[in-house]
Amino acid sequence: MYFFYRSFLDKLCPRTCISCPNILEGDEKDLCSTCSDQLLASVINKQGLLPSCDSVEAWIDFDAVQSYMHRIKFDGHPELASWLGKQYALLHPKPMVDALVPMPLSSKRRRERGYNQCEWICQGLATVWDLPIWNEALLKQHRPAQAQQNKLQRASLMVDAFTPGRPIAKGVRIQLWDDIWTTGATLNAAGWALRDAGAKHIHARALASE
Ligand SMILES: [Zn+2]
Repeated sequence: MYFFYRSFLDKLCPRTCISCPNILEGDEKDLCSTCSDQLLASVINKQGLLPSCDSVEAWIDFDAVQSYMHRIKFDGHPELASWLGKQYALLHPKPMVDALVPMPLSSKRRRERGYNQCEWICQGLATVWDLPIWNEALLKQHRPAQAQQNKLQRASLMVDAFTPGRPIAKGVRIQLWDDIWTTGATLNAAGWALRDAGAKHIHARALASE
């Protein structure tokens, strides 16, 4: 009955894929099967080491989500970040942490963009995991865009870029979320600031890595 109703609605008002112009069919939801197959074929679950974090992991190869990231950050589609966060949470067990902390933007960058995409990622995660999101746990000072910087320059730019935004309980466990893990300089610096604020365990996660 639902299927009949859905296909009737689809004829009346076709739904399109959130990532390409394909019309969604049958039980396809949000993403067409071509895009969804492509996305899931690009899972890398890349792990690494950062001095300030207990673990660090990125989910998908950057090339596969590059167009999503562009729409999220520069085309005003933060709901895509929430969608990606939700998909991640559906495919991963709920972590043993006290809260999710989104990587903050500087107030200048946030004003320009109108939102912080990492907060939207966390909202998507929280719909599945039912964990609190601590948006104010970290503050970020404005730094120039990092695109042209090498690893060493990025690391030195990030020193003191973050400060604790509010006191947090001593010994808490946090999953810290960024959209892209590049050199790790940003996640590492944010990890130190969370430790300064009292966090004991920090697990850094990113949707994608290059
Ligand atoms: Zn598609």
